[in-house]
Amino acid sequence: MAVLKGLLLARASMVARGLCSSSSTVSSGFELRSAPSFASKQLPLQRSPTGRNYQWVFLGCPGVGKGTYASRLSNLIGVPHIATGDLVRDELASSGPLSSQLAEIVNQGKLVSDEIIIDLLAKRLEAGEAKGETGFILDGFPRTVRQAEILEGVTDIDLVVNLKLREEALLAKCLGRRICSQCGGNYNIASIDIKGENGQPGMYMAPLLPPPQCASKLITRSDDTEEVVKERLRVYDELTKPVEEFYRLRGKLLEFDLPGGIPESWPKLLQALNLGDNDDKRSAAA
Ligand SMILES: [Zn+2]
Repeated sequence: MAVLKGLLLARASMVARGLCSSSSTVSSGFELRSAPSFASKQLPLQRSPTGRNYQWVFLGCPGVGKGTYASRLSNLIGVPHIATGDLVRDELASSGPLSSQLAEIVNQGKLVSDEIIIDLLAKRLEAGEAKGETGFILDGFPRTVRQAEILEGVTDIDLVVNLKLREEALLAKCLGRRICSQCGGNYNIASIDIKGENGQPGMYMAPLLPPPQCASKLITRSDDTEEVVKERLRVYDELTKPVEEFYRLRGKLLEFDLPGGIPESWPKLLQALNLGDNDDKRSAAA
């Protein structure tokens, strides 16, 4: 990982200047760049020939719960969960060099540029490497094909998990999000109970209710209105759907339809990832 940060930044600048196309790669001698595997049925849990740790990406619409599943899996397999949303929030809260520039972008409701995201990600990977971290689960990155191309040029992604949830459940979940104004805890008051019909199974997702001390302090984020949520989903479709295709073509995409809430979905996700029954009972109870 010693050169990952430099490569990431160099690759970003080459793509920005049109110096490399999606099909070219940076010739780096980087040990992580091994031949990609196209044996998609065998994809989950393949480690590289060098035996390095898992390098996974989580994709999914806003509100699908990818942060929750990525975080649980990172604990289970012992790699860091790196969420670019957290990197942006941390930078905003700090007095770092990018914070005022970021505040302006975020306050105007604009998307943070690839350059800034890559800069933050490179710094995070470098800091992790200094602590001896290996592998990662990326959450929120890549969110555009350009970002996927940049990432592809510097390291091998073993597996891309695409989490999917039925649209009616997704919208209800987004609108049910609440935050405790005191401790910042995340909750969800939506109780989803869709009846099965026309051969489609029903779906139940329990609300994630706050403990009593938070219950009277819940607030709704100002950007969790129906209008804004629908716009976020539209932007996701436009920018990030093509990222699914990018990885599908490379044989790395694992599609996973969430069958319900965490109790139903977690064991099935572990199964899909070949992560064994013993692990899943222990972790589902955690
Ligand atoms: Zn609270």
